[in-house]
Amino acid sequence: MTHSSRPNLPEAGWKFDNSYLRLPESFYVRMNPVPVRMPTLVVFNAPLAQSLGLNPEVLQGDDGAAVFAGNRLPEGAEPLAQAYAGHQFGHFTILGDGRAILLGEQMTPEGERIDIQFKGSGRTPFSRNGDGRAALGPMLREYIISEALYALGIPTTRSLAVVTTGEQVRRETPLQGAILTRTAASHIRVGTFEYAAARGKPDEIRALADYTIQRHFPDLGSSDNPYLALLDAVMARQASLVSRWLLVGFIHGVMNTDNMALCGETIDYGPCAFMDAYDPSTVFSSIDHNGRYAYGRQAQIAQWNLARFAETLLPLIHENMQEAIAMATEAVTGFADSFRQYWLAGMRTKLGLLNQEADDGALVDDLLDCMQRHGADYTNTFRDLASGSAPEASVFQTPDFMQWYERWQARLERQPEEREVSRRLMKASNPAVIPRNHLVEEALDAAVERADYSVMQKLLGFLSQPFNDPPDVEGYHLPAPPSAQPYRTYCGT
Ligand code: AMP
Ligand code: MG
Repeated sequence: MTHSSRPNLPEAGWKFDNSYLRLPESFYVRMNPVPVRMPTLVVFNAPLAQSLGLNPEVLQGDDGAAVFAGNRLPEGAEPLAQAYAGHQFGHFTILGDGRAILLGEQMTPEGERIDIQFKGSGRTPFSRNGDGRAALGPMLREYIISEALYALGIPTTRSLAVVTTGEQVRRETPLQGAILTRTAASHIRVGTFEYAAARGKPDEIRALADYTIQRHFPDLGSSDNPYLALLDAVMARQASLVSRWLLVGFIHGVMNTDNMALCGETIDYGPCAFMDAYDPSTVFSSIDHNGRYAYGRQAQIAQWNLARFAETLLPLIHENMQEAIAMATEAVTGFADSFRQYWLAGMRTKLGLLNQEADDGALVDDLLDCMQRHGADYTNTFRDLASGSAPEASVFQTPDFMQWYERWQARLERQPEEREVSRRLMKASNPAVIPRNHLVEEALDAAVERADYSVMQKLLGFLSQPFNDPPDVEGYHLPAPPSAQPYRTYCGT
C-alpha cells in the first residue's frame, strides 16, 4: 500500500509549522509512517481535536482512520523520527523513536505549538530489534491514563486517537496492532540532550538548548546565563510535576531519562499505575525488580535524571569546567528542597490548610505513617477526610488515627476562615475517581477481547470529572476487591 496522493480535506483544520526540522540534521531522520492494511478508528478525542483547531466531524470517520493510521498524510505534515539517547534503569543507551513518528507541530487557535506524534507507526532507523508497532491494549491504556491525569490538572501529553491497524503484532502471543496519536508541548527529553552531548559537538548542544529555551522558556533568552536558567526552569517544572504525581498516588513506573520531557509534561505511559493502599515502596512494573521507580523514590530519581541533564549543559554554563560543575551542582542539590515545597503546598490543600504552620510537615508525615501502618487506601482516605463529617471507615477508629484526627481538627480551628472554605478546597484537591487498576483492566478487556468500547467510554466519562462524587452504586470510587494476585504492569510493547 502506498500513501494516497489525494490531498487532505482542507476543512480538517491542520495547520503545521515544523520548527524541529530547523535543528541540525543529526537530531532526526525524515521518514513517513509505514502504511497499514486496514485502519479502523476506535477512539477519538473530539474535545482535544477541537482545542487543536481540528474539525472532529471531518476526522471522525474513515478519513480520520486513514490519517491516524499514517496511510494518508495531513497537509503540511513533514514526518520524522527523533534521535535521542537515555539512561534506562541507570544504563546509558542510544535510542531514538523506534516506533514513533512526529508528523509535525500543529499551531492551535490559541497560538500554541503542539507536537502531533504517532506511536506504533512502523519501523525506523532507530528500531533496533523492534517491529516498530504497538498492541491495542497498551495504546488504550495510555489513552485512559493520560486523559485521567489531564483531568486531574497534571501536565501531560494527551491522546487524540487510537486506530486498529488490521495487522497482528507478535509479542508472547499474537495481538491486535494499533497506533496511538499523542499530542505534547514537545518531545524534547533529557535524553535528547544526552544524545547531543554524546556526539561531542558543542554547537549541536547549543542549538538544542537555544531551541528549547525559545520553545518552552522564551523569557530566559535574556538572562545573564540562559543555560543555567534553563536548568533551573526545567528543574522547577519537574519538582512541580513529580509532586503532583505523588499527591494523587501516581507511579510513573519507568522514569528513564528518555521518558522525562523538558516541557514538564508527564510522558510515556508504559507500566504506570495508581497506588491503592498507601505504601511508598509500591511498584507495579514487572521489570522494576529493585524498586528503582517505586512510588516513594520518584523525587530522588527525578533529581538523578536532572543531574544527567545538568551534565550535558556544563560546557554552556561556564567556559571553566570547574566553575560550571560548581554552579550546576548547586542547582541540582536544590531540587530536594524545591520538590518538598511543592509537595507540602499540595498536601496543605489536600488537608484544607489555608495558611502555614511550622509543624505542617510533621502533621502530613504522621498521617501518611498512620495510613501505611493500617494499609489505608490513599485516595479514599483523603476523600473521606474531605467529606466534612467524622469518617466512618474502620481505619479511622484506630487510636493512632483518632489522635491524629484530633490534632488535625485543632490545626483547622486555628485558622480564621470558615470550615466551609477548607472543605471546598479539599473537595477540589482530593479526587474521588482515579483510574483504578481493576477498572482500567475491565475497560481494556471489553475493548480488546470483544471490541466493546462502551466500558472504556463510560470510565473515561467519570475520569474526566475526578473531583465529583460518582454515584455509589457504580463502584468507581472503590479499591479493587481483595485478590490473591498483586497487580502487575508491563512496558508498552
Ligand atoms: P519506552 O520503554 O517505551 O520508553 O521505549 C524505549 C525505547 O524502545 C524507545 O526508543 C522506543 O522507540 C523503543 N521501542 C519500544 N518498543 C518498540 C518496538 N516495538 N519497536 C521498535 N522500537 C521500540
Ligand atoms: Mg519512551
